[in-house]
Amino acid sequence: MTSLFTLPPAPVVPVADKDATYPVHRIFCVGRNYAAHAAEMGTEVDREAPFYFTKAPSTLVVAGGQIPYPPGTENFHYEMELVVAIGAPAFRVTVERAMDAVWGYACGLDMTRRDLQLAARAKQRPWDLGKDVEQSAVIGPLTPATDMPPLGPQSIVLTVNGEVRQEATLADLIHSVPEIIAHLSGFYHLQPGDLIYTGTPAGVGAVVPGDRIDGRIDGLTPISITIGAAE
Ligand code: MN
Repeated sequence: MTSLFTLPPAPVVPVADKDATYPVHRIFCVGRNYAAHAAEMGTEVDREAPFYFTKAPSTLVVAGGQIPYPPGTENFHYEMELVVAIGAPAFRVTVERAMDAVWGYACGLDMTRRDLQLAARAKQRPWDLGKDVEQSAVIGPLTPATDMPPLGPQSIVLTVNGEVRQEATLADLIHSVPEIIAHLSGFYHLQPGDLIYTGTPAGVGAVVPGDRIDGRIDGLTPISITIGAAE
């Protein structure tokens, strides 16, 4: 049987210092995983368990270029995040075994139509219009977990036009990477190709066309994007 049309190829993430790519299957995102960010959003962290939303894999953008200012918003926000790349199947894994499923890490941006997210939140509606935004899952090259020291003291920093807007350390994560994987694996058969955006520190804010965003986490390849004209 012939296909009616051809879809774009599956998105891939480059691997730092290697001639290899990591194909992407799903994108999970953790909400409210830094206490100071939850506070600035007028909410509290649920310390019992993380919660999630998803972005379609088609929203993935490799950093280094420009993304458009998306339609339907007047409050387009950056969120700097540690991204975890799953490299082995994980289903109902314990916290103790969860790190066996990690292939590596990258810097990422969970770009958000904040006005639409907050409007949805206020009406107890899903966040898709605010979060599942075309070209909103920005990611840098992956670094293998074996090349990364234990997570904790690394700083996570975001600047806009050279000015620091977000600054924290990975030790500030409420739900740690193994805790997230163990919890999420109770609901999904995690598999190679699954990315987890682990949440953003305080200091989120709006960008406008022409702005340049730089993000870095100690030990990982830094990322940079510019915001293009409104569509
Ligand atoms: Mn986020």
